Amino acid sequence: MIDDESCKLALGANLGYYHDDPYELSLPFFAVAQGGYIDGGSYYVRGGSQRLSDYLVSLIEENGGAVDCGRLVSDIHVRDGWVSGATHAKTYTETDEQTTQANSVIANAAVPTVAENLLADPHGSTLAAEISDRAIAPSLTTLYLVFEPTPADLGNECYSTIIEGTDIDTLADLSDTPPAGFGSRRLTFVDYSQVAADLAPDGKSVGAITTVDYHNAWCGLTDPEYRRKKNRVGDVLLRRLNEVLPGASDAVVHQELATPHTIERFTHNPLGTAYGFAPTPNQTLGAREIEPSVDGLHFASAWSSPGGGFTGAILSGAKTARSLTSDVGTFS
Ligand SMILES: Cc1cc2nc3c(=O)[nH]c(=O)nc-3n(C[C@H](O)[C@H](O)[C@H](O)COP(=O)(O)OP(=O)(O)OC[C@H]3O[C@@H](n4cnc5c(N)ncnc54)[C@H](O)[C@@H]3O)c2cc1C
Repeated sequence: MIDDESCKLALGANLGYYHDDPYELSLPFFAVAQGGYIDGGSYYVRGGSQRLSDYLVSLIEENGGAVDCGRLVSDIHVRDGWVSGATHAKTYTETDEQTTQANSVIANAAVPTVAENLLADPHGSTLAAEISDRAIAPSLTTLYLVFEPTPADLGNECYSTIIEGTDIDTLADLSDTPPAGFGSRRLTFVDYSQVAADLAPDGKSVGAITTVDYHNAWCGLTDPEYRRKKNRVGDVLLRRLNEVLPGASDAVVHQELATPHTIERFTHNPLGTAYGFAPTPNQTLGAREIEPSVDGLHFASAWSSPGGGFTGAILSGAKTARSLTSDVGTFS
C-alpha cells in the first residue's frame, strides 16, 4: 500500500524487535505490536523486570506454592500417556537431583529442547516431528551501558534511537544476508532514563545498543579470540553511538557485551534466539499453537502462541494458566 521507500523504512524502524527480514515477518503480528507501541508509547517494568518476577513469586508463595531457582529440568516423565513429573538438579553442578511428581507440567524451556532432551521417545520424537519445519528467530547482540552523566544530560530526548546502517535505501536492503559488519549494520540505542525505569541511582542511567545477530557469527573462536571480538564489537558500537550522541562514550562508566552465545548460556534457548520460533505468518498468533504430544504437558513461553517478546510470553502464560484449572481440578 506504500510506495515510498523512506516511509517503509520509518514504519519498519523497529524491525529488529521482531525479526531480521521484513518480507518474512507476519504483518498482523507486527501491526498489533507496532501499533500498540505507536499508540501507547514505551514502557519498562520500574526497577527492572526482576521486580515483576519477584512479585509473581510472592503471589505463588502467598498461595502455598514454592519457587526453586537455579535448577535445570533434565527429564519430563510420562506414565500411560500422561505426564507424571519432572527430574531436576542444580543447574551448574548437576547435584541434588530430585524428581517432583506432577499431573501437569508447564514447559517454559525452548520447545525444541523439550522435544530433543526432556521427553523420552516416542513422545519426544512426536513433538520433534510436529515442529520439524519451524524456523527459529535470530538472536541479538547487545552492549549494556551505564552512563554518568546521563544521555539526557548530553541532550538525548528519545527513548529509542535507530542508528541506520550504511547503504540502507530500501526495505529490501534490510533483508540482506549475510548481514553487514557491526560498523555498517542497523543499530538501536535505548535510553532507559527517558522512561521511569528506575534502573540506576540518581545521576546515572542505563542504556543499551542492540543489533540483530546470529549464533554462527561467534562460533569457531578460541576463548581469547571470542573475548577480543567482544571488545572490538563493543568499541565499534560505542563509536557509532558517539557519532549520533557526541560525548556518549566519555560518559560510559561501565559496559558489558552480550552475544548470542551469552543468551544461549543464560536462557538455554537454542542458537541464543531472542524470540523462539521466527514470527512468520504460519508461526505466529493462532498458527503458533503447539499440540503437546502428551496429556498434561503445556507450553508457556515466547515459543508458543501468540509469539515472542514480553507481551507474547505473558499472554501465553496467562492462557496456559487459565487452561490448567480444569486439569488441576481433575486431579485434586
Ligand atoms: C537481548 C534481548 C532483548 C530483548 N528485548 C526485549 C524488549 O525490549 N521487549 C520485549 O518485549 N522483549 C524483548 N526480548 C524478548 C523477551 O525477552 C523474550 O521473548 C521473553 O523474555 C521470553 O520469555 P520466556 O519466559 O518465554 O523465556 P525466557 O525469558 O527465555 O526464560 C526461559 C527460562 O527457562 C529456563 N530454562 C530453560 N531450560 C530449562 C530447563 N531444562 N529446566 C529449567 N529451566 C529451564 C531458562 O534458564 C530461563 O530462565 C529481548 C530478548 C533479548 C535476548
